[in-house]
Amino acid sequence: MNKSILLLLAFITSNLLAQEIITPLRKNNYSKPASYDEIAVYVRQLDSISELITTEVIAKSAEGRNIFGIKFSSSQFGSNPSKVKVLLLAQQHGNEQAGKEGALLLMQELLKAENRYLFERIDLAIVPQMNPDGSDSNSRRNGNGMDLNRNHLIITEPEVIGLHRLFDQYLFEVTLDAHEYFPYGETWQKYGYRNNSDLLLGTATNSNVSEKLRGLSNKSYLPFIKEFLGARNVSNFIYSPGGPPELDYIRHSTFDINDGRQSFAIQNTLSFIQEGLNGTDRFADNIKHRAESQMSGMRGLLEYTYRNSKKIKSLVARERAKLVQDHSSIVAIQSEHVRNGEKLHLPLLSYSTGRDTLVIVSDYRPVVKSIYDVNKPAGYLIPKQLKELAEWVDRQGIISHPYKPELSDKIELYEAITIDSIDFEGDIVVNPTLAVKKLSKAINPDDYIYLPTNQLKGDMIVIALEPKSMLGLVTYKEFSHLLKKGEPFPVLRVIKK
Ligand SMILES: [Zn+2]
Repeated sequence: MNKSILLLLAFITSNLLAQEIITPLRKNNYSKPASYDEIAVYVRQLDSISELITTEVIAKSAEGRNIFGIKFSSSQFGSNPSKVKVLLLAQQHGNEQAGKEGALLLMQELLKAENRYLFERIDLAIVPQMNPDGSDSNSRRNGNGMDLNRNHLIITEPEVIGLHRLFDQYLFEVTLDAHEYFPYGETWQKYGYRNNSDLLLGTATNSNVSEKLRGLSNKSYLPFIKEFLGARNVSNFIYSPGGPPELDYIRHSTFDINDGRQSFAIQNTLSFIQEGLNGTDRFADNIKHRAESQMSGMRGLLEYTYRNSKKIKSLVARERAKLVQDHSSIVAIQSEHVRNGEKLHLPLLSYSTGRDTLVIVSDYRPVVKSIYDVNKPAGYLIPKQLKELAEWVDRQGIISHPYKPELSDKIELYEAITIDSIDFEGDIVVNPTLAVKKLSKAINPDDYIYLPTNQLKGDMIVIALEPKSMLGLVTYKEFSHLLKKGEPFPVLRVIKK
């Protein structure tokens, strides 16, 4: 037999075998979500029958469990420059089970012959279970008691480090982070309504993310996915946390860059979050429908990516090049959610009638507006003796090198005159008043590591290191000691002509 016939036969056989492999959830007759052990078996089974799949362990969890990364490619993953690289991740929060179930279901779906065309234009990596420690105990946090989806800036947890290693290796152009929301709380019950959409869809909100990418997300992707999901009877709406209306304003999701979606978006990635409707027991309740809804959201993103692959590829490349080349832009480090005069027609379920209804929200703040910008310096100097910062640079995979001063370099130093506080989405964070000073004596370059800001993580570096940044490192207990009233801030700014 010639080679193409052999390949065809192999393909048909694997396709038939794939039909026989069933997800752990279905095997359990939808009585409970997949356990960590069941996932390991399922992933291995799929890998063994399909030539599309390569599985790797991208990290070990805090308690030593494997985090699987499953790569789908019709060729060598990441080697074809015309393909869009897509990363799907799920279950950073252990008590949000259905994102994982959707991802596991999708893996099987993608092996069907009718979906094969996707891989002509897409290389896809799936991390179905970011938090195996939390999953089996059905708890939000990992084995270290950390919230993984608040860890993407300080990046202390092995699961998050592994994910970003994977991202940095391939520089995915499109990412989706799958979660679930829980609308059954007391405040909403008292209000008489609650959210009831199968899926809520969130785009990047940080105002430093490329305006063009945010535009594509909001004006092109959202209308597409709305229709795609509608045709599959998956009710959906734009992710709009806050409320209930009249008690609190409604906005789009946080502009913080410490979550999965935004940590990729700040590197000018087309990045999304989907929040499915959790079960009333935060576990197995309604799990079949929840899993299928999540799967549809993921499948819709792949369809959109396939149809717009050229546009996505070129736009992401162009917007990333700006980050790498640009020295002179400004970066927003304090922002707030503001109104634009629009009223939100929010679909909610009425507790009294049991029916879906539209509630008109007046205090709707869909715009993220900068309230404090800084000029982006050419780079930052970090004292080598501050191990906590040097190690952060390593964990983040930030490009750094020894400092070679040039005559025209101007070095700026901050001193905190006062340390006040500022409201950030209901939390109180530090807000220092700073004086910018020139160094009184020359520094020894050997005492410092130099982080140039003309790199893909350039905006992230500015947001992390500026002491007045409401999203910065000093707002975390692990780094708060760096900022002291009346003392110089240890990280220096390098301005080049
Ligand atoms: Zn979550």
